[in-house]
Amino acid sequence: MATDITEFRKRNRLLPCEARGCSNRRWSSSIYCAGHARRSNLYGSPYGQVIEVRTLKPYLKAAQDFLKMHAGAPQIVAALKLLQAFIDRGPYDSPQTEKLMPRLRQFQVSAEDVLPKLIATYLLDRSGFCAALDHPETLTFALGRAVLRTVPRAPYIGDNGKPRSHALRAGVVREVGGWVQRVLGHFCVNASNSITAISALRHERVLIASDPFPLTTAQAAEQK
Ligand SMILES: [Zn+2]
Repeated sequence: MATDITEFRKRNRLLPCEARGCSNRRWSSSIYCAGHARRSNLYGSPYGQVIEVRTLKPYLKAAQDFLKMHAGAPQIVAALKLLQAFIDRGPYDSPQTEKLMPRLRQFQVSAEDVLPKLIATYLLDRSGFCAALDHPETLTFALGRAVLRTVPRAPYIGDNGKPRSHALRAGVVREVGGWVQRVLGHFCVNASNSITAISALRHERVLIASDPFPLTTAQAAEQK
Protein backbone atom coordinates (compact mmCIF):
# COMPACT_ATOMS: atom_id res chain seq x y z
CA MET A 1 0.00 0.00 0.00
CA ALA A 2 2.70 2.47 1.06
CA THR A 3 4.57 1.59 -2.12
CA ASP A 4 1.43 2.30 -4.18
CA ILE A 5 1.23 5.78 -2.67
CA THR A 6 4.94 6.40 -3.17
CA GLU A 7 4.65 5.22 -6.76
CA PHE A 8 1.54 7.39 -7.31
CA ARG A 9 3.30 10.47 -5.94
CA LYS A 10 6.34 9.79 -8.07
CA ARG A 11 4.20 9.67 -11.21
CA ASN A 12 2.03 12.58 -10.03
CA ARG A 13 5.08 14.81 -9.60
CA LEU A 14 5.85 14.48 -13.30
CA LEU A 15 2.48 15.99 -14.28
CA PRO A 16 1.86 19.73 -14.73
CA CYS A 17 0.06 21.81 -12.07
CA GLU A 18 -3.65 22.27 -12.87
CA ALA A 19 -3.79 25.98 -11.98
CA ARG A 20 -4.25 28.08 -15.12
CA GLY A 21 -1.09 29.53 -16.54
CA CYS A 22 1.19 27.58 -14.19
CA SER A 23 4.08 25.66 -15.71
CA ASN A 24 5.30 24.01 -12.48
CA ARG A 25 5.14 20.29 -11.78
CA ARG A 26 2.68 18.91 -9.22
CA TRP A 27 3.53 18.60 -5.54
CA SER A 28 3.21 15.27 -3.68
CA SER A 29 -0.27 13.86 -4.41
CA SER A 30 -1.86 17.27 -5.11
CA ILE A 31 -3.24 18.32 -8.49
CA TYR A 32 -1.32 21.59 -7.93
CA CYS A 33 2.31 22.61 -7.54
CA ALA A 34 3.52 23.36 -3.97
CA GLY A 35 2.66 27.08 -4.21
CA HIS A 36 -0.85 26.61 -5.62
CA ALA A 37 -1.54 23.70 -3.21
CA ARG A 38 -0.63 25.99 -0.30
CA ARG A 39 -2.96 28.77 -1.53
CA SER A 40 -5.75 26.28 -2.05
CA ASN A 41 -5.25 25.01 1.50
CA LEU A 42 -5.27 28.52 2.99
CA TYR A 43 -7.96 30.24 0.93
CA GLY A 44 -10.06 27.49 -0.68
CA SER A 45 -8.79 28.19 -4.20
CA PRO A 46 -5.39 27.95 -5.94
CA TYR A 47 -5.93 31.61 -6.92
CA GLY A 48 -7.01 32.73 -3.45
CA GLN A 49 -5.17 35.34 -1.46
CA VAL A 50 -5.42 37.00 1.90
CA ILE A 51 -7.98 39.80 2.19
CA GLU A 52 -6.02 42.87 3.25
CA VAL A 53 -7.24 44.78 6.32
CA ARG A 54 -7.40 47.98 4.27
CA THR A 55 -9.54 46.27 1.60
CA LEU A 56 -12.09 45.19 4.20
CA LYS A 57 -11.99 48.44 6.18
CA PRO A 58 -14.72 50.51 4.41
CA TYR A 59 -17.07 47.51 4.40
CA LEU A 60 -16.36 46.87 8.06
CA LYS A 61 -17.22 50.48 8.87
CA ALA A 62 -20.49 50.17 6.92
CA ALA A 63 -21.36 46.92 8.75
CA GLN A 64 -20.54 48.44 12.17
CA ASP A 65 -22.65 51.53 11.43
CA PHE A 66 -25.51 49.34 10.27
CA LEU A 67 -25.43 47.15 13.41
CA LYS A 68 -25.28 50.24 15.61
CA MET A 69 -28.19 51.87 13.78
CA HIS A 70 -30.36 48.76 14.18
CA ALA A 71 -29.10 47.62 17.58
CA GLY A 72 -31.81 45.66 19.38
CA ALA A 73 -33.59 44.61 16.15
CA PRO A 74 -34.84 41.02 16.65
CA GLN A 75 -32.87 39.67 13.63
CA ILE A 76 -29.62 41.12 14.96
CA VAL A 77 -30.27 39.91 18.50
CA ALA A 78 -31.00 36.40 17.14
CA ALA A 79 -27.88 36.38 14.91
CA LEU A 80 -25.65 37.45 17.80
CA LYS A 81 -27.17 34.78 20.03
CA LEU A 82 -26.58 31.99 17.49
CA LEU A 83 -23.03 33.15 16.81
CA GLN A 84 -22.21 33.40 20.52
CA ALA A 85 -23.58 29.89 21.12
CA PHE A 86 -21.41 28.57 18.27
CA ILE A 87 -18.30 30.24 19.71
CA ASP A 88 -19.09 28.99 23.22
CA ARG A 89 -20.14 25.41 22.58
CA GLY A 90 -20.54 24.51 18.90
CA PRO A 91 -21.56 21.85 17.99
CA TYR A 92 -18.38 21.24 15.97
CA ASP A 93 -18.05 18.43 13.43
CA SER A 94 -14.35 17.73 13.70
CA PRO A 95 -12.09 17.14 16.72
CA GLN A 96 -9.67 19.77 15.31
CA THR A 97 -12.38 22.43 15.44
CA GLU A 98 -13.38 21.25 18.91
CA LYS A 99 -9.77 21.75 19.95
CA LEU A 100 -9.32 25.16 18.33
CA MET A 101 -12.49 26.97 19.38
CA PRO A 102 -11.63 27.30 23.10
CA ARG A 103 -8.87 29.67 21.95
CA LEU A 104 -11.53 32.17 20.93
CA ARG A 105 -13.13 31.86 24.35
CA GLN A 106 -9.71 32.22 25.99
CA PHE A 107 -9.33 35.59 24.25
CA GLN A 108 -12.93 36.47 25.14
CA VAL A 109 -13.96 36.82 21.53
CA SER A 110 -17.61 37.79 21.44
CA ALA A 111 -20.24 37.57 18.72
CA GLU A 112 -20.21 41.40 18.67
CA ASP A 113 -16.53 41.29 17.57
CA VAL A 114 -17.18 38.76 14.83
CA LEU A 115 -20.54 39.66 13.27
CA PRO A 116 -19.44 42.96 11.64
CA LYS A 117 -16.54 41.09 9.98
CA LEU A 118 -18.91 38.51 8.55
CA ILE A 119 -21.28 41.12 7.11
CA ALA A 120 -18.27 43.05 5.75
CA THR A 121 -16.97 39.88 4.04
CA TYR A 122 -20.36 39.37 2.35
CA LEU A 123 -20.42 43.03 1.29
CA LEU A 124 -16.94 42.71 -0.16
CA ASP A 125 -17.89 39.50 -1.96
CA ARG A 126 -20.98 41.11 -3.45
CA SER A 127 -19.06 44.23 -4.49
CA GLY A 128 -17.28 42.06 -7.06
CA PHE A 129 -14.13 44.12 -6.52
CA CYS A 130 -12.15 41.53 -4.57
CA ALA A 131 -10.07 39.12 -6.63
CA ALA A 132 -9.44 37.11 -3.45
CA LEU A 133 -13.11 36.06 -3.52
CA ASP A 134 -13.46 35.01 -7.16
CA HIS A 135 -14.00 31.28 -6.55
CA PRO A 136 -17.05 29.61 -4.88
CA GLU A 137 -15.08 28.17 -1.97
CA THR A 138 -13.12 31.34 -1.23
CA LEU A 139 -16.11 32.97 0.50
CA THR A 140 -16.41 29.95 2.82
CA PHE A 141 -12.71 30.22 3.64
CA ALA A 142 -12.81 34.01 4.07
CA LEU A 143 -15.72 33.68 6.53
CA GLY A 144 -13.99 30.88 8.44
CA ARG A 145 -10.79 32.90 8.66
CA ALA A 146 -12.75 36.00 9.74
CA VAL A 147 -14.06 34.05 12.75
CA LEU A 148 -10.84 32.21 13.61
CA ARG A 149 -8.51 35.17 13.03
CA THR A 150 -10.35 37.33 15.57
CA VAL A 151 -7.70 36.27 18.12
CA PRO A 152 -4.17 37.70 18.19
CA ARG A 153 -1.80 35.99 15.78
CA ALA A 154 1.23 35.95 18.10
CA PRO A 155 2.57 32.48 18.95
CA TYR A 156 1.03 30.82 21.97
CA ILE A 157 2.37 28.18 24.35
CA GLY A 158 1.23 24.71 23.40
CA ASP A 159 0.41 21.76 25.68
CA ASN A 160 4.07 20.67 25.50
CA GLY A 161 5.26 24.07 26.79
CA LYS A 162 6.70 25.10 23.41
CA PRO A 163 5.58 28.20 21.46
CA ARG A 164 3.29 27.34 18.57
CA SER A 165 2.02 29.43 15.70
CA HIS A 166 -1.65 29.75 14.87
CA ALA A 167 -1.60 27.94 11.53
CA LEU A 168 -5.17 27.12 10.58
CA ARG A 169 -6.15 23.76 9.16
CA ALA A 170 -8.13 23.93 5.93
CA GLY A 171 -10.74 21.53 7.38
CA VAL A 172 -11.36 23.76 10.41
CA VAL A 173 -11.60 26.94 8.31
CA ARG A 174 -14.01 25.21 5.92
CA GLU A 175 -16.16 23.89 8.78
CA VAL A 176 -16.46 27.26 10.54
CA GLY A 177 -17.04 29.16 7.27
CA GLY A 178 -19.61 26.56 6.24
CA TRP A 179 -21.47 27.02 9.53
CA VAL A 180 -21.57 30.80 8.97
CA GLN A 181 -23.00 30.35 5.46
CA ARG A 182 -25.57 27.77 6.58
CA VAL A 183 -26.78 29.52 9.73
CA LEU A 184 -26.06 33.23 9.21
CA GLY A 185 -25.84 33.41 5.40
CA HIS A 186 -29.39 34.71 4.89
CA PHE A 187 -29.01 37.24 7.66
CA CYS A 188 -25.69 38.52 6.25
CA VAL A 189 -27.10 38.74 2.71
CA ASN A 190 -30.15 40.67 3.99
CA ALA A 191 -27.93 42.98 6.02
CA SER A 192 -25.63 43.65 3.06
CA ASN A 193 -28.68 44.27 0.81
CA SER A 194 -29.94 46.86 3.31
CA ILE A 195 -26.52 48.50 3.56
CA THR A 196 -26.21 48.67 -0.24
CA ALA A 197 -29.74 50.13 -0.48
CA ILE A 198 -28.95 52.73 2.18
CA SER A 199 -25.78 53.85 0.43
CA ALA A 200 -27.60 53.99 -2.93
CA LEU A 201 -30.27 56.22 -1.33
CA ARG A 202 -27.60 58.41 0.19
CA HIS A 203 -25.98 58.76 -3.22
CA GLU A 204 -29.38 59.73 -4.72
CA ARG A 205 -29.95 62.29 -1.97
CA VAL A 206 -26.60 63.88 -2.81
CA LEU A 207 -27.56 63.79 -6.48
CA ILE A 208 -30.94 65.55 -6.06
CA ALA A 209 -29.40 68.09 -3.72
CA SER A 210 -26.76 68.96 -6.27
CA ASP A 211 -27.94 71.79 -8.48
CA PRO A 212 -28.35 72.50 -11.42
CA PHE A 213 -29.24 69.65 -13.79
CA PRO A 214 -26.43 68.74 -16.14
CA LEU A 215 -27.13 69.42 -19.81
CA THR A 216 -28.00 66.43 -21.98
CA THR A 217 -25.80 65.82 -25.02
CA ALA A 218 -28.51 67.21 -27.33
CA GLN A 219 -28.88 70.41 -25.27
CA ALA A 220 -25.12 70.84 -25.14
CA ALA A 221 -24.93 70.51 -28.96
CA GLU A 222 -27.75 73.08 -29.35
CA GLN A 223 -25.88 75.62 -27.25
CA LYS A 224 -22.82 75.50 -29.45
ZN1 LIG B 1 1.01 25.83 -9.86
